[in-house]
Amino acid sequence: MTDRYATFAHSGAGRFLVKRLGLPNPPKLRRYEKAAEFGPVTLGGSGRLVEPTRNILDELPVAAGADGHCAALIFDASGITDSEALRALYDFFHPVIRSLRPSGRVIVLGSPPELCTSAREATAQRALEGFVRSAGKEVARGSTAQLVYVAPGAEAATESTLRFLLSGRSAYVSGQVVRIGPAAVDVPDDWDQPLVGRTAIVTGAARGIGEAIAHVLAREGAHVVCLDVPAAGEDLSRVANDVKGTALQLDLTTEDAPRRLADFIATRHVHADIFVHNAGITRDKTLGRMEEGQWSSVLDVNLSSQERINDVLLAESLLGGNGRIVSVSSVSGIAGNRGQTNYATSKAGVIGLVQASAGAVAEHGLTINAVAPGFIETRMTAAMPMFAREGGRRLNSMTQGGLPVDVAETIAWLAHPASGGVNGNVIRVCGQSLLGA
Ligand code: NAD
Repeated sequence: MTDRYATFAHSGAGRFLVKRLGLPNPPKLRRYEKAAEFGPVTLGGSGRLVEPTRNILDELPVAAGADGHCAALIFDASGITDSEALRALYDFFHPVIRSLRPSGRVIVLGSPPELCTSAREATAQRALEGFVRSAGKEVARGSTAQLVYVAPGAEAATESTLRFLLSGRSAYVSGQVVRIGPAAVDVPDDWDQPLVGRTAIVTGAARGIGEAIAHVLAREGAHVVCLDVPAAGEDLSRVANDVKGTALQLDLTTEDAPRRLADFIATRHVHADIFVHNAGITRDKTLGRMEEGQWSSVLDVNLSSQERINDVLLAESLLGGNGRIVSVSSVSGIAGNRGQTNYATSKAGVIGLVQASAGAVAEHGLTINAVAPGFIETRMTAAMPMFAREGGRRLNSMTQGGLPVDVAETIAWLAHPASGGVNGNVIRVCGQSLLGA
C-alpha cells in the first residue's frame, strides 16, 4: 500500500504546499544499502564503554565529514553516577544536536539501573530514558534516538547492536531502550552475510511482513524455511522460490502442528538456528459484539501456538547452539486498541512469553526477543478505515508508516549470531508511535 500523501508531499507542488500550510512533511528514510558509507560519528562521554565503542567504530566504513555536520552522536553515559552529573548530556549534545544530518542517529549508552550499586547511580541511569525519548521527538528529518543499557561484563557484546542502530536497517526504530547482557559473541566472518550456514524458519511467510522477513534473512545468508497455511500454498511457493528456500505448508493451530514441525526439522535440517513467530491474525470487534470464535482463533494463532512450538523446540533441542527465537508482537499489545481486546491480549501475551522464558531459554544457549510493530504498510493496515489509517500513519516521530522490511531488518539484528547478549528484549518498530509511548 502506498502512502499517497507522502508521495504528494515529496513532489514539487507538494513541497510548496506542505511548507506554506505547515502540514506534516514525512521525510524520506535512509534504509539499508549494501556497503553504504556512513558518518561522521562523534563519540563523547567518559564511561567504561568509550574504548570498546571506539574500537567498533574503527571497523566500520565511517566517512569523514567536511561540512561540520554529523551523521551520528554517541554518548557514553555509563560513567554518570548521580543526577548532577546528568548535565554532561546537555554539555555534549547542546552544541552539536542541530548539526545532525537527516536520518541521523543519537545513541546514548548506559548501565542497567537494576544493576547499579547505589540508588543515586540507578536514578541517574534511569533518567537517560526520558532524555532519549524526548530527543527522538526533537531530532526529526528521519533521525532516531536510542538508549542502550550495557550490563557490566557485556562491553564486548555491543557490536551487532551498534551496527544495527547506526545503519539504515533501523530506519523505523526510535525511542527504544535496548538491554545487552554478558554473552559469548560469535563474530561472523562477513558482517554483510552473518547468517551463512544457518537455517531460519519463518511462520506466516507467504505475504506481508513474513515475506519481507524471509527476504532479509536470505539476503543475510540464511537458508529460509517459509511456513504458512496450505490455503496460501501458491504464494508460499513463490516466496520460497524467490529466496531459494523451502516451503512448508502447515496450519500452526492443528493439534499435530508441533509434532510435524519437530519431525520436519529433525529429518530435513537436523536442527534450525532461528525461529521467527510471525504468523498472526486479527478478528476485530468490540468486546460486546465479539463472537467466541473470534476471541479464541486470535488467541490460538497469535499466542498459544507460539507457546506449544517453543515447548517442543526446547524439549527436543531443535534449535542449534546460539539459536534465536523472535516473536512478532504489536504496539496494540502495549497500548491497547478499541475493537482489539482479543488481538491486544494475544500480543501482550507474546511480550509476557518472551520475558518469562528469557531465563530458561538462555540456559539452552539461545535467546528470545520480541518486536512490536506499529503502523506498517501491509494489507492488514490497508483494510483499516481511512481516518484510523491516516492517524496511525502520522502519529509517530517519522510522520509515516513503516515498511515490512523495517520489521524484517530488526528481526535480522535479533537473529544475528553476534546478538547473544540481547535477550528478553521487546523492541518497537513503530517510528516512535505516540500510542503507548
Ligand atoms: P498478513 O495477514 O499479511 O500475514 C500473516 C500471515 O500469517 C498470512 O500469510 C497467513 O496465512 C499466516 N497465518 C495465519 N494463520 C496461520 C496459521 N494458523 N498457520 C500458519 N500461518 C498462518 O499480516 P502482516 O501484516 O504481514 O502481519 C504479520 C505479523 O505482524 C502478525 O503477527 C501481525 O499481528 C503483526 N503486526 C502487523 C502490523 C501491521 O501493521 N501490519 C502491526 C503490528 C503487528
